Amino acid sequence: MPVSTFSIMGSYLLYFISALLFIFFVYAAWASLKEKETRACRRFVLLAVALPLPLLALALLTESPVVPWIITVALVVGAGIFFIPRPLPAYKEHIVPRGRIDERDTMFSRDILEPGTSEYDAYYRRHPERKKGDDAFRRNPGLLSASATFYDPFIFPAAQANFELIEQYRNFVDGPVANERQQWDGPALSRQLKSLALKYGAVRAGITRLEDHHLYSYRGRKHNYGEPVEGHHTHALALTVEMDHDYLRNAPYAYCVLESSRQYVRSGVMALWIARILRDMGYHARAHIDGEYEVVCPLVARDAGLGEIGRMGLLMTPELGPRVRIAVVTTTAPLVADERDEDPSVIDFCTTCKKCADVCPSRAIPFGDRQEIGGVLRWQIDQQACFTYWTRTGTDCARCMSACPYSHPDTPLHNLVRHGIRHSPAFRKLAVRMDDFAYGRKPRPLVKGRM
Ligand code: SF4
Ligand code: SF4
Repeated sequence: MPVSTFSIMGSYLLYFISALLFIFFVYAAWASLKEKETRACRRFVLLAVALPLPLLALALLTESPVVPWIITVALVVGAGIFFIPRPLPAYKEHIVPRGRIDERDTMFSRDILEPGTSEYDAYYRRHPERKKGDDAFRRNPGLLSASATFYDPFIFPAAQANFELIEQYRNFVDGPVANERQQWDGPALSRQLKSLALKYGAVRAGITRLEDHHLYSYRGRKHNYGEPVEGHHTHALALTVEMDHDYLRNAPYAYCVLESSRQYVRSGVMALWIARILRDMGYHARAHIDGEYEVVCPLVARDAGLGEIGRMGLLMTPELGPRVRIAVVTTTAPLVADERDEDPSVIDFCTTCKKCADVCPSRAIPFGDRQEIGGVLRWQIDQQACFTYWTRTGTDCARCMSACPYSHPDTPLHNLVRHGIRHSPAFRKLAVRMDDFAYGRKPRPLVKGRM
């Protein structure tokens, strides 16, 4: 090949790479503008100009025939490092907890304990170390209280209305079973139920065998405090619903609690429908909805193949990260459990990212590595610190969920990043830095009056 042709081809390659970079970052800026991410939009415009410019200058000014080729090869090799898939080995550690979780240990249960009652005395005899902190949050105004810091005279009552609606749903979580059992084969019924859940508006639905560790040991809400959980069902269907991205970006202010309550209602209705259908078909079935859980929803959802448990202790789903609410239906119907597609990249990403720990106003999320707790290697948040903040502000905060890089909307731009995160260790490191650069290490809440 003549030297001039070789040189011209090298320059054209640089023009081509510059054009690609320009188009990609202009697209990223436009997508960010649509998401009302103004900081990210500005940053992507900057990159759309700053990255192609040196390449263009080089292509135009260099007289060397080899320099454009060297730069091109370096860029391709660099991109290869970031984009070539390198799968992680599957988890080696045990992910099944030893024994069951006691619902009475959760903050919602401790919140209803009243000093002077036998339940209060019994609980703090068992856990004296929790008494001082728990008594402190009981002195705070409380969730949705008119004297809480982030009280909003419109949104708090709206959220309260949702919680009162869910309270009524508790009468329908279980019920009589039809005498005559319809004969379905397991795979067909499983497919039908999952597609129904998606039709109703679930983002994903999955099925697992119901294992002992999915069940609470004892109930901890006011209607059933201290009742042992029996668990006669064989399978569980878990479904997730999306929490609105804009409402969550308002976290920790009032819209986040409105959105949580709204999605508890939606997911609860879906679970009630599905449980009722199964009972009418002649199978025992129970819906597990907000305040009426006999199962630990994130564990069921993880084992049903819907995601992994991340640093903030929530289910991290492939499309929306932690920005979901979960409902579960347990049943005796002969369903077929889904294969769990384990994704170790989530744990690897969380190990580096730590953004939720950085934004948490109560410092409840650990910065360190996972610890072995109850037979499982995991991160454990400080529930008491988190809940104490909620009872001061009146909302359920959700700053961690809102700032998580996995929580970005389910769009081509973010899905491209999710794909890279899932497949390339180098890309995971880059993605943490890019997310900080574009959205900020501590993204500012979206506060714009009524949404
Ligand atoms: S913010 Fe980062 S560390 Fe926290 S859960 Fe999300 S990905 Fe993991
Ligand atoms: S909800 Fe708020 S206080 Fe609780 S862990 Fe998340 S960021 Fe921290």
